[in-house]
Amino acid sequence: MDHLKPKVEIDPSAGFCSGVRRAIEVAEQLLSQPGGVACLGEIVHNESELSRLRHLGLKILDHGVDSGFAPGNKVIIRAHGEPPATFERLKSVGAGVYDATCPVVIKLQQKVSIASAAMKENGGTVVIFGKPGHPEVTGLLGYSSGNVVVVSGQDDLELVDLSKPLRIFSQTTSDLEAYRKFCDTIQSGAEKVSGSTPDVIIYQTVCGQVSRRKPDIERFASSHDVIVFVSGSESSNGKYLSGISKRCNPRTFVVTGAGQVKPGWFEEISSVGVSGATSTPVWLMQQVAAEITEMIKKN
Ligand code: SF4
Repeated sequence: MDHLKPKVEIDPSAGFCSGVRRAIEVAEQLLSQPGGVACLGEIVHNESELSRLRHLGLKILDHGVDSGFAPGNKVIIRAHGEPPATFERLKSVGAGVYDATCPVVIKLQQKVSIASAAMKENGGTVVIFGKPGHPEVTGLLGYSSGNVVVVSGQDDLELVDLSKPLRIFSQTTSDLEAYRKFCDTIQSGAEKVSGSTPDVIIYQTVCGQVSRRKPDIERFASSHDVIVFVSGSESSNGKYLSGISKRCNPRTFVVTGAGQVKPGWFEEISSVGVSGATSTPVWLMQQVAAEITEMIKKN
């Protein structure tokens, strides 16, 4: 009987963040016009969405290869942003630059630039809590005067000179709790070294659209018997959120698309939740939800 079949719900909080959505809209608009369009690096960390955009004609340029850096080429700067040197390089060869850097990232670049200039005056350091080599972090380094250290966690504390003035920022997609813990350790360490009022300023720069997802996925994962989490295999946000989902609901299955869903996951349950990363398109979660519904009908 149909009313005994499990319900399938798509997580209302899942789907692209505003920065990724905006970059994809820029790409779609350019692709609807004549001429080639390329993005410097993957515009989104999701293979299915990338494949859809590639079919529309989008090329993905490698940072190390100059093939797209040619007069007349339209090159999109993705939501993560780029250092100023990249813009200069593209402009110097006459490529059309379409800047889709997320406005939240632009604000962070501006803050890092101002703090770095100030720290240059007084011998201090800018600390960026993030992943070394992540494109957003590489972009941020380009806005500094060189007096920056990148730390990825408590293990990197020794890189920070606690006797100096410090201005601390995080990559927008960092885990808020881990960042807070790191900042607390820095603050108390600096107090020990420099007395009770060290010159340390901590900026809360984790993106709200990322930090809000944690309580949302905890609630969503706990309210369903089974979670199917849809994410690109290279999405760090996907790994982070699916890990939280697994902790709240061990019956969390991670898939990249509808083809990986298995009927055995949906036996003797009353509800299934479909969620995804900030880089997972809604259309892909809808495909997965439709596949699950079909399997449930046949069970
Ligand atoms: S996660 Fe936040 S800062 Fe990063 S691209 Fe999305 S909206 Fe922008």
